[in-house]
Amino acid sequence: MSAGVTSRRRENTRLGKLIIWKCRGCTALLAPLTTFCPSCENGNLEPIDSAGAGMIVSCRVVDRAPDPVCGAPCPSVIAIVELDEGPWVYSWIDGDVPMPLDRPVRVSFRHTQPGERFPIFRPHDPE
Ligand SMILES: [Zn+2]
Repeated sequence: MSAGVTSRRRENTRLGKLIIWKCRGCTALLAPLTTFCPSCENGNLEPIDSAGAGMIVSCRVVDRAPDPVCGAPCPSVIAIVELDEGPWVYSWIDGDVPMPLDRPVRVSFRHTQPGERFPIFRPHDPE
């Protein structure tokens, strides 16, 4: 079970794209780490590319020591981002807490180890 979660987590960031899931049962769009559809309990999910844009629903600053694995200071603002497609994702915000909170944000990817990276969001003001 945990192996499946790990491979899905990898797949979430393949090619620098944020992958969300579409339920093949009811066509609901689901967050990246979802493994089954909460509406119809269908585990048959199809990966689709998210545009990676959304709004911060909630965020808070977490006190965190530098990551013992990657050695670098890790992002310290954890946030819930509502993607334009609808699903909510837990992620990190690059830099300080954006103000106002409902500013648009866009995904970008931070490399940790070779072949590994995780999605973070940074403020993105439309031009
Ligand atoms: Zn469903």
